[in-house]
Parts: sequence; structure tokens; C-alpha cells
Amino acid sequence: MLKDHGRSKYGADLPLREKDREVFGRIRDYVQNSCQTVDVLNLAKSVATFGATSMDDLAISMGASDIVRGLVNIWTVAMLGVDSTDVSLVYFLHYCKAGGGFIQMRSDDVGGGQHLRFRGGSQALATGLLSCLKQNSVVLNAAVKRIEQHLDIGCIVTIGDGRQFRSQRVISTVPSTLLPQISFSPQLSVDKLWLISQSKMGSYAKVFLCYLEPWWRRRGLCGLSQSPNGTISLTRDVSSDKDGLYALACFVVGERARVWAQKSPDDRIAEVLTDVDRIYGSDIPRPVHTQEQIWNNEKFSEGAPCPVVPVSCLVSLSRDNWRAEGYIHFAGTETSTTWKGYMEGALVSGDRAAREVLETFAVDWTSARAKL
Ligand SMILES: Cc1cc2nc3c(=O)[nH]c(=O)nc-3n(C[C@H](O)[C@H](O)[C@H](O)COP(=O)(O)OP(=O)(O)OC[C@H]3O[C@@H](n4cnc5c(N)ncnc54)[C@H](O)[C@@H]3O)c2cc1C
Repeated sequence: MLKDHGRSKYGADLPLREKDREVFGRIRDYVQNSCQTVDVLNLAKSVATFGATSMDDLAISMGASDIVRGLVNIWTVAMLGVDSTDVSLVYFLHYCKAGGGFIQMRSDDVGGGQHLRFRGGSQALATGLLSCLKQNSVVLNAAVKRIEQHLDIGCIVTIGDGRQFRSQRVISTVPSTLLPQISFSPQLSVDKLWLISQSKMGSYAKVFLCYLEPWWRRRGLCGLSQSPNGTISLTRDVSSDKDGLYALACFVVGERARVWAQKSPDDRIAEVLTDVDRIYGSDIPRPVHTQEQIWNNEKFSEGAPCPVVPVSCLVSLSRDNWRAEGYIHFAGTETSTTWKGYMEGALVSGDRAAREVLETFAVDWTSARAKL
């Protein structure tokens, strides 16, 4: 469903005027083909090729009308929480390449970014990993305040209540935008400090509307809608039929999310419901429960899903590439060149950082991993 334009078959062309459809298709193909040409390890080279063009500049230069620009904006806000005016073409291409290409990232098909969901929520991944570890090996609710490195004794990590932990190595998975909350001694490299100070988390919120039944399916709809204007950018069917849970997730993202989040909770929900009516019609059932999640209000997220790096920092990032600094190693989804910004990227980066550490102790990574 495309707001104000009507429905189209899932996966088919959007219900646009012929000219808009043609331009939209060309921009999509350009992004898909160009992202395959970039070398994920060489951002500097891509900056030389694509310059500082934003995604919106790209759309305009390819002849996009307002509606097509709005649709391109949906790509960037949905995937990064940042409007197309604020994300560079080069960063977006690298982001897409890491996820196997633009089309794959947006796809619901096998291997696509939207193919699978966790029954019961993605927390299941963290709790599942925790169950593989020795009891009491994870300290929860402990914000790290300081990390010191000493040549003779290794690292000392200090948490909020003053407790200290000593280790030979540290792996930090704290998103770069939150690293300023930790004091490092000695300081991190100039490249990392520059990156940390300039990267920006997207504005991201979801509102879940729970219903007694999936009414949209009765109307022949899959629950996916796109709105180039208004409060909501996207809706998706996030039901878990086995659990009798029928829900639409409404994505409030980008600049719209920042403005919307400042309103009162009642006004926020009212605005979302009005927008859903405008997309699907005012005769749809009322939700029996609503639940909102605003990632920018979370102290340990400050936005989602992954820090966006401006063009001015891409050469520094290319040079630094999240290399270890002394005894400190860096992981987390943004450090990954595979599915950056996704859970897969976080897992791959954890694997890579663990290997870096084990190699410094001359432990064979393959046999260590096989024991897990
Ligand atoms: C709304 C939304 C939708 C998403 N959709 C998808 C999706 O469909 N598919 C997908 O694969 N991914 C999705 N993601 C992205 C996915 O959640 C992230 O890629 C993944 O969580 C990144 O893992 P991470 O370990 O790198 O970072 P995080 O999950 O952010 O973990 C970082 C951890 O560091 C902790 N921390 C921060 N500061 C400190 C400190 N000072 N001391 C100690 N700990 C600290 C935080 O509490 C947090 O637990 C989505 C994210 C959001 C928010």
C-alpha cells in the first residue's frame, strides 16, 4: 500500500504515474548496481568516486519528483533512521554492499534483511548466548566509565559504582556514539576521536498496534505500507500467529521521529492512529493495545540502528577501520563489513574481535571456536 496512491501487488511496481515509476526504477537500479562496485574495505576510494553527494542529491539529479524523493527518503529512514538529505550516497552504498546489496537488504525472501524474525523478540539472541556461558560470567547493569591500559598489568575497567575489573584485553562493543561516555587512558587515536565526535545515530521509533485479528489480511493486504509524508514512514505485519498475536509495527523514523517524540504520549498515539486511518481507511478496527518504543530516549542506545558516518570522516574510518588500540579491541555491528547495522554484523564482529584477542595469545582460533 502506498499512502494516497493505493495498493499494488507485493514486490510489483508501486502505483505511481508512469514517469515517476520509470525514474524510481532507475534510481533503485543505480543504487543496486553501484553498491556492488564498492570495496567495503576502501571507503576512501569510494569517496573519491562518489564525492559528498547525498541520497537526496542523487534522487534530484536523476529527475525525481517530490513523491519519488519521498520514496528514496523512506529507504534511508527505514534502514538508518536518517533522512536522505543527511546521508551520503557513498555511505549508503557501503551500507548496502555490507548487506549483500540494496535489494537483498530490503527483501523478505530467503537471505533478505526482512526474511526472519525472532519469535518472542530479538532479546532471545542475547539470552541464548548467555546460556552458553559459565554462570555469573556476565555483569549486568554496569555502565563502564573508564578504561585504563597499563603496560605491566593490562587493562583496568571501572564501572559506575566504582568496582574495577582487571583483564589482559578488553573488547568494547559500545556503539561509537556512546564511547564519549567512557574515559580512556591513554586517549584513543585521533582518527577514532574524530569518528566518534561526528557519527550520528538515526532517530528511530516503533509503535506496535495490536489487534484481535489481522484485519488487513482479510482485505487482501500484507500489512506493508509506505508513506512519503505524515508521521509513519512504514507499517509491517509483525504478527506471531502461533501466539495469537496480531500486530502492525508502525515505523516513525528520521526527522519526523525527532519532532514526534517531543509530543505527549497521548498525542503521539493519536497521531499514529490518524495516520494509519489515512493509509488503510477510517473503517479499520481499533487496536486493543498499543506499545511504543523510542530508541532515542534509551540512554544506552540514543537512537538506532547503527551510527551513520558523515563523508568528512570516511577517510579516517577507512584508515582506522576499527583497529585495536593497545589492549583494547573494538566490535559491534558498525565495525562489521558484513551486514553492518544488523544483528548478523554484530555477531560477525564479535567473532572477529575474539579471534584478534586469541591470536595475541597464540591460541588457534578454529579449534577454540569448535569447543564453543
Ligand atoms: C528499531 C530497530 C530495528 C532493528 N531491526 C533489525 C532487524 O530487523 N534485523 C537486524 O538484524 N537488526 C536490526 N536492528 C539492529 C540490531 O538491533 C543491531 O544491529 C544490534 O543490536 C547491534 O548490536 P551491537 O552489539 O553492535 O550493539 P547494541 O545492541 O547497541 O549493544 C551495545 C550494548 O552496549 C551497552 N552499552 C552502551 N554503553 C555502555 C557502557 N558505557 N558500559 C557498558 N555497556 C554499555 C548497551 O547497553 C548495549 O547493550 C534493529 C535495531 C533497532 C533499534
